[in-house]
Amino acid sequence: MIKAGKVVELKYSLKNTKGEILDQADANDPFSYLHGAEQIVPGLESALEGLKVGDKKDVVVSPEEGYGPKSEELRLLVNRSQFPKDMDLKPGMSFEADTGGGHGMAFTVESVSGDKVQLDGNHPLAGETLHFAVEVLKVRDATDEEKDHGHSHSGDGHHHH
Ligand code: ZN
Repeated sequence: MIKAGKVVELKYSLKNTKGEILDQADANDPFSYLHGAEQIVPGLESALEGLKVGDKKDVVVSPEEGYGPKSEELRLLVNRSQFPKDMDLKPGMSFEADTGGGHGMAFTVESVSGDKVQLDGNHPLAGETLHFAVEVLKVRDATDEEKDHGHSHSGDGHHHH
């Protein structure tokens, strides 16, 4: 059964309210996470609690329980001169900015007008109601190393090692 300290493998699809697929994982390349470690959005994590292998569930997650509401404070208007001269700034492009503390923050360019650049630092899924369809493929105990790291080491979980 899914509870804190278990590594879970899922097949899932994620759609927005319009029914467009935003993300998915199938049985050949399942998504794996450590339950209770806040590796996934809170609304999905609480809905998966207690499920067993083979269970299927549709979960609707509000922005508040997902990636948060869109915040106007994260939209910044900056001067073109703050970017390298040879940087070709176009709407839709994204980059990481060092906001101090060694943590990069992802920004997307919304628009460029004269010497002003409108940036959006919201998560791309902020403000979205998330529609998940999940199927539980596997549930196992987390290893001590996984508990230590706070994430699963199955599948793509190795990328940072
Ligand atoms: Zn690790």
